[in-house]
Amino acid sequence: MKIVMKFGGTSVGTGESTKRVADLIIQNAKKHRVVVVVSALASVTNSLIEVAELAKKSNEKQIQAFTDQLLKKHLEAISTAISSKEVQREVIEITKKTISELEKVLTGICYVGELTPKSNDYVVSFGERLSAPIVWGALKDHGLETHWFTGKEAGIVTDSNFGEADPLMNYTTHLIRERLAPLLEKGAIPVVTGFIAANQDGVVTTVGRGGSDYTATIIGAALGVDEVWIWTDVDGIMTTDPKIVPSARMLPQLSYQEASEMAIFGAKAMHPRALEPAMKENIPVRIRNASQPENSGTLITREPDPEAKEVVKAVAMIKDVAMVNVSGAGMVGAPGSYAKVFDILGKNNINVMMISTAASEANISMIIRRGLLGRAISSLEIALENRGGLVSEVSAEDDVAVIAVMGANMKGTLGVASRIFATVAKKGINIRMIAQGSSELNISFVVKEKDGVAVVQAIHQEFNLDKL
Ligand code: ADP
Ligand code: ASP
Ligand code: MG
Repeated sequence: MKIVMKFGGTSVGTGESTKRVADLIIQNAKKHRVVVVVSALASVTNSLIEVAELAKKSNEKQIQAFTDQLLKKHLEAISTAISSKEVQREVIEITKKTISELEKVLTGICYVGELTPKSNDYVVSFGERLSAPIVWGALKDHGLETHWFTGKEAGIVTDSNFGEADPLMNYTTHLIRERLAPLLEKGAIPVVTGFIAANQDGVVTTVGRGGSDYTATIIGAALGVDEVWIWTDVDGIMTTDPKIVPSARMLPQLSYQEASEMAIFGAKAMHPRALEPAMKENIPVRIRNASQPENSGTLITREPDPEAKEVVKAVAMIKDVAMVNVSGAGMVGAPGSYAKVFDILGKNNINVMMISTAASEANISMIIRRGLLGRAISSLEIALENRGGLVSEVSAEDDVAVIAVMGANMKGTLGVASRIFATVAKKGINIRMIAQGSSELNISFVVKEKDGVAVVQAIHQEFNLDKL
């Protein structure tokens, strides 16, 4: 079989875990042709985002301390994951060169005092640029023929939507086939950085947080592989985040559509758009536990599990969101008023994750990423409030969370919504907003973030999700 194996930050957190990753790749490469995709070491992307913000505030002193720490972390991983001194030296040289480039970029941001989405992508790309050579070195250590590539070098070309870029799939497919397929044919192992790519001008882009999953399916679709395996730190996609409900159960099989509903609603297990390329080419995706490779994990395919009878399959909490309310009597019976609101948000590159309105037409509530709230409110206020009273108020709440309840068999089953809302009411928790898509695969609602964990636990229990 031809397989893409993607390892998340949780699997390459330390030198020890990277060694385990190398073992897994080596075992599988005996039976299959393998392309490897790797994320940054655990927590590195977050720390790069933080240091870029510090640099913007001209905090030059922090830069040196940060890069020293980053070098130390990677040197430790190199010395544990790689035995051969010669290979170690080679990887250390790449690491030092890469970190010194990062230092220059951060210093530049510091002097200009400006961090654009473009320069931010450049900074965060360093996490994967540092991790991939370590995995490459760990494979080389065992005498395997292997080559490492950045996403750009592998041939992933995207649009210029920095921070959330999308691949230009035809061009990308052509380049990936040209660059990676010959290596696979002769049994060599390409190791590709996840998350990062480049636009048509060769400028570095990223495909969104958690984007290495997306890189894996983009490469998988381009090469027409048999399966994409996403290795992580849990057994597969579970009925909910096991960090919230420890008894959460692994779901052995899901359809692309079911899994997409979970991913779109931010259940961290996968990047929201990661299933699109796989779905288009009908390539099965497996989510597996890198610490328990004997388990087969969750298999995601076109059809839902024919055996699965449960109405509700999973419940997720999405933090890091905010609710924006736009209200005004001027919107009532005024054709095109909603379009104006969405047009303004779209032009400001603000994605709306969830919408709800009432038949009175006097109010729209929307959920967006919390980090975009300032931009959303100011652009709406500037554009709408002065326009002849169409909108009288733009307000926001930034301490909310979305709870999403999912399952293919919810379609056409009566009484699911009432059971969900009765469960929340019994807890004495107020619901701020509700939406159900016409697909009926998903009911989503908004509560205060502080109540989110209790709501997820109560729904998990009400629908007995920990039992078959
Ligand atoms: P990786 O570094 O492997 O990409 P992530 O942190 O992005 O890992 O995603 C894995 C984490 O997702 C798990 O540790 C788990 O806490 C969280 N998670 C949230 N919801 C779910 C779910 N429904 N099923 C499995 N994991 C989930
Ligand atoms: N390192 C990136 C992130 O943290 C991509 C990934 O982990 O998939 O978002
Ligand atoms: Mg992830």
